[in-house]
Amino acid sequence: MRELLIATKNIGKIPEMAMPLEGTPFTIVSLLDMPGVEEVEETGHTYEENAILKATAYGKKTGILALADDSGLEIDALGGEPGVQTAYFLSGTYQEKMTKLLEMLRDVPDSERGARFRSVVAVYDPGTDTVRTCEGVVEGSITREIRGENGFGYDPIFDYENSGKTGGENAREEKLLLSHRARAMQKAREILLKEFV
Ligand code: IMP
Repeated sequence: MRELLIATKNIGKIPEMAMPLEGTPFTIVSLLDMPGVEEVEETGHTYEENAILKATAYGKKTGILALADDSGLEIDALGGEPGVQTAYFLSGTYQEKMTKLLEMLRDVPDSERGARFRSVVAVYDPGTDTVRTCEGVVEGSITREIRGENGFGYDPIFDYENSGKTGGENAREEKLLLSHRARAMQKAREILLKEFV
């Protein structure tokens, strides 16, 4: 079977990118299986640029068909920030970052707490030097407190689809169905099966 590299070391992202590929004819590996591969800097200005940059760089370094995600949280009350800069926004642990963000948004009324997660996934084939991208978005809102332990990053303060439950409270299976990354990965699965098998 052809190898497919999930080009991330983010332990939260790996299962969310691998599970939607179940049943496809690929042997999945991630950067955690390749400790010798040096990390690539995210120097792009858009999700698409960063996803392409990561998939292409890791695909070329390893010679394996590579899949990379670049994602972020867009908060309406902050004019869409932090967006593509989400990974570099605020400092400390995620508990500290979430506490700081909730404090920043303390005076924002419930009706104006809209936000969305966006994920752009790029597939790069080093054999043919071909790249393809796709995108997934999930709407929701920023809660007033940290809730739940599941997921990763800002999941415990993001109410997915205004369901009343944060990504911290959602079961893993729920996030695998409705998240931005799940939606992008469904499209990536189609692209992989159609163009890269
Ligand atoms: P990057 O895609 O590595 O640039 O990182 C994007 C950042 O956005 C992550 O470090 C998280 O802070 C946040 N993020 C992206 N996707 C998710 C998610 O599914 N749940 C919670 N936070 C996320």
